[in-house]
Amino acid sequence: MILKLYNSTTSQKEDFKSISPNIVSMYCCGPTVYDAPHLGNFRTFVFYDLVKRVLIQNGFEVNQVINITDIDDKIIDKVNSGAIGYKELTAKFNDMFLQHSLSLNIQEANQYPKTSDHVEAMIGFIKALIDKEYAYNVDGNIFFDTEKYSKYGKFVNIENIDRLESEDDGLGKKNQKDFALWKTWKEEDGDITWESEWGKGRPAWHTECAVLATQSLGKTIDIHCGGVDLKFPHHENESAQVEALLDSVFSNYWLHSEHLILEEEKMSKSLGNILNIGDLLNQYSAETIRLFLLSSHYRSKIYFSDEKLSDSSKMIDKINRFVKSVGLDTLDHNGDTNPSGDYLRFVESLNDDLNTPEALGIFFDFINKKNKKIHEDSLSEEDIEESKKFILGFNSIFQIIHPSVLIDEEVPEEVQKLAFIREGMRDKKNWEEADRLREEIEKMGWLIEDSESSQKLVRKK
Ligand code: AMP
Ligand code: ZN
Repeated sequence: MILKLYNSTTSQKEDFKSISPNIVSMYCCGPTVYDAPHLGNFRTFVFYDLVKRVLIQNGFEVNQVINITDIDDKIIDKVNSGAIGYKELTAKFNDMFLQHSLSLNIQEANQYPKTSDHVEAMIGFIKALIDKEYAYNVDGNIFFDTEKYSKYGKFVNIENIDRLESEDDGLGKKNQKDFALWKTWKEEDGDITWESEWGKGRPAWHTECAVLATQSLGKTIDIHCGGVDLKFPHHENESAQVEALLDSVFSNYWLHSEHLILEEEKMSKSLGNILNIGDLLNQYSAETIRLFLLSSHYRSKIYFSDEKLSDSSKMIDKINRFVKSVGLDTLDHNGDTNPSGDYLRFVESLNDDLNTPEALGIFFDFINKKNKKIHEDSLSEEDIEESKKFILGFNSIFQIIHPSVLIDEEVPEEVQKLAFIREGMRDKKNWEEADRLREEIEKMGWLIEDSESSQKLVRKK
């Protein structure tokens, strides 16, 4: 079967061909660890997971690297605000990223290299660029010389772009298009600094990813992913450095996911900090959040709304009821190499540039067809086998069936009682007491998902 992926460098869907026959190397730009991640970040991280799971479905082994950016201006600003030390800050948000990834059923990457562990390699890389005259030194700041590199402008028409790298303005670069590889030490940097032959300083972001990617996956990788905001200048600049220095194609496919959009008013007025992913995971199950994120195509914007999350929650109820009615007793998926019927169409949709909305539509049509048979009492053994196979294949990508569904777990009486009282508080708009009861229920391992008119209890992961 052919897998097609939209390549940002050609703006076309292309047949995917890996460099090695069975293994795919995949580099994903990871979090900058200075603050709690939000739902937008996890839209992108769930997208990485989707790419990986579809590759696995196609029989590939995936060697995935997600970097951790722990040297960055925003990190230095936060340390300078005085509340927390450098190591403590970056460790805290690194752990938080990994913890939330796990909660959201995101498969673990093979490596999570941290920038600060590889500064020596970055210094060597920059030195090699200087030796090849692709980089120059201005007062200890090292810049990439875009004039020397004729292929600059892979992702954008560089002549029309009004968003040229401005971050390094004022550091002495020769050309507006040039960008920093190394930033010389400033007083605000304090101890967050490394020795190099150009003096004290630190690597710049675009160099960090260029080095971490090539060091961990080689000079040409199969797939490089990121959110759409990273296309330019970050990926342009990563690519320019690697291709100039190593004279190779850096990545054969570049995949970018669109943004999750927050309506500003709503965010400040009624949502508060709910869009912090940790808070959101206290309000909705991981499965609900995953389904919400995967219901849109990765190249379309997602507009956040509570209603959409409620809809996802209802869709999950429907899937769970179906799982129960066909008597599924395991979620283990051994990889089905021979899908057929509706399940085949589902696989083909995903292979058509990861078309999750279409794949979901096929799955729900299938559920409706089988539910009709259930109501007519005409569901055959073959229907049951076909359904089980499809559900397992579906879940190997979407990961939205909680294992507790299989064991038909009853909500404990104590939890039901508290939920009943909490519903009363909610109706009376006694939010303080409603929130207190929610927390109590959560400690007992259950989550309350609110919709406009009711509340629902779901097992917490
Ligand atoms: P950061 O932690 O800011 O370095 O971002 C980590 C990843 O999240 C990057 O790949 C960004 O492109 C992505 N990202 C940031 N904001 C959003 C958003 N609103 N929607 C989707 N992805 C985002
Ligand atoms: Zn990156």
